[in-house]
Amino acid sequence: MNKMKLILDSENEWGFFVDPKTFDIFTIDNDIPDSSLVIVKEKEYIEDIDRTVIQTSYGIVDKNKFITKNKKEISKLMSEACSKFILARDTLPPKVKVEKELQEDKPAQLAFMLSNYDIFHLKISSTMLDGLNPFERIQDIIGNETQKLTLYDREDKWKIEYAKSSRATCKSCGLKIEKGTVRIGEPYYFDQYLNYRWHHEKCIFWSRLEIKQLENLEQLEKEDKKRIESYF
Ligand SMILES: [Zn+2]
Repeated sequence: MNKMKLILDSENEWGFFVDPKTFDIFTIDNDIPDSSLVIVKEKEYIEDIDRTVIQTSYGIVDKNKFITKNKKEISKLMSEACSKFILARDTLPPKVKVEKELQEDKPAQLAFMLSNYDIFHLKISSTMLDGLNPFERIQDIIGNETQKLTLYDREDKWKIEYAKSSRATCKSCGLKIEKGTVRIGEPYYFDQYLNYRWHHEKCIFWSRLEIKQLENLEQLEKEDKKRIESYF
């Protein structure tokens, strides 16, 4: 089998690759086999916001070459790999769950959780399943049990507060979060320190959060608090 070497700057870069046949995840330290799906993380200091952020890039290995893909493209490749896995093994790949309730005559929406911070949204169409109906096929596999995924299921609390400045950009839509507006902080660890990725109120999938995961809600103005509570 063809393999390539991907040299990472060990200080600031690290990564994973996924075997599309098994969905096994490996840390990049040396060779990456052909057809692997590759995720590379890079620490980068952004002067504008005075923060170190982690950038992610994606690609595949094809004939010893690394070919860059965007997240949408890599998610499509994962969807195809996931479909083949389902056809071959009659079960969902590891770390793949149903993300949205299955609907008849619609593609199935699954999620592959590589880690808490790397979630890929997969769309399984009937074409990918050799003409089989994804609703029936996947319903068969998961049975009656609703195996819906809680995407935001980490233990640390999400922080809700008024933006102290207009410097932060929303990690969902990329636009500025205006000073004084409600912003929601998604917890993550960086160098063992708890940090937050900020989002606009309108950019949060509220249905995937539970109210008990929110910290600081009591500190909001009555009206804002009421509005946020109405999402649950
Ligand atoms: Zn936003």
